[in-house]
Amino acid sequence: MHALPPTIIPLDTMHLGRAEIICCYLVRGTVNILIDPGPTVVLPALAEALAVHGLTFADIGAIVLTHIHLDHGGAAGTLLDRYPHMTLYVHERALTHLVDPTKLITSATRIYGDQMDVLWGEFLAIPAARIVTLNGGEPLHIGDQRFTVIAAPGHAIHHLMYIHQPTNVAFVGDMAGIRMPGYRYVRPATPPPDIDLEAWDATLQTLRHHTPSAMCLTHYGPVFDIEPHLDALHAANWRWAELVRGWMLAGIEPSEQLRLLTAQATADMGAEATEQGISAYQKGASITMSLQGLTRYWSKRLPPTP
Ligand SMILES: [Zn+2]
Repeated sequence: MHALPPTIIPLDTMHLGRAEIICCYLVRGTVNILIDPGPTVVLPALAEALAVHGLTFADIGAIVLTHIHLDHGGAAGTLLDRYPHMTLYVHERALTHLVDPTKLITSATRIYGDQMDVLWGEFLAIPAARIVTLNGGEPLHIGDQRFTVIAAPGHAIHHLMYIHQPTNVAFVGDMAGIRMPGYRYVRPATPPPDIDLEAWDATLQTLRHHTPSAMCLTHYGPVFDIEPHLDALHAANWRWAELVRGWMLAGIEPSEQLRLLTAQATADMGAEATEQGISAYQKGASITMSLQGLTRYWSKRLPPTP
C-alpha cells in the first residue's frame, strides 16, 4: 500500500504559517476523530483544513493524543472547552498534567520563554470527566472505528501509538522520528525530559511485530517503507546518543556540542543535504532540543565527573 485509506486524512496545521511542520490526522467514521490536533495557535488553520473535507469542529467527536507535548496536544484543552461534546483519549500518566497543567506550562516556559504564546498558544486545563485514560494493550473503540493501543515509551514516558483496524495504519506520533515528505533521511527526536533509548528500542520492536501498513508521523506525514525507516531511526538514535556521550565524557562545551551535532545532522542527510532539505528538517526538528534530551539522558547514567 502506498496511500492511506480514504477515511484517514492528513491535515496540515500550517504551524506559524508554514506548510508541513505539524500533521494532524482525521479519521472519519460514525464519530470523527482528530489524532494530535497540534498546539492552540493552529486551530484556525485546522478549521480551514477540515472545511476542505466539509467538516467543522462541531463534527469532531474525539481527540486522541499520542502524547501531550505542546506541538501534539496543546490545543486539546481549548477544543474540549469550546466543544462540550468532545472526549479526549490519552495515556493515564498524562492525566494529572492535563487536569492541572501548571507544572507542564512552567517547564515549557523555561524552554520557550516569551515565545510560548507565539509558538503554542494557551494550554487549558481539562476536567477529568472529559478524559478517557489508556495504558496500552487495550482495544479502543470510538464509534465504528477500532484501534489497538500500544504503550510506546521512548520519546516520552506517556507516549502511546494507535494502530487502526483493520487497515493496520499506525499513528506513531514522534516514536518514528522525523522525516519530511519526499525524503529518505530519518532524524532523531530526543527532547527532554524523559527520553529513554532502551525503551525506545523495545517500542520499535513492538511496532515491527504489528507490521503496520503505514506509519503516520506528526513531523511529517505518512511513510510506507516501514522496515528501512525503522532501521534508519534506530541507527540514528544511537549514533547521536554515542556522539553526545563521547562529547560529555571529553568535557566539550554545550555550544560546541550543538555545532558538532548540527554538522553531524547535515552529514547524515548525505545527498539530501541540499539547501531545501536542510531547511525542511530545520523546521520539523530542533537539534537543540534533541541535544538537551540526550544530555539529560546520559547525565542520569554516566558516572559523575570528578
Ligand atoms: Zn514530542
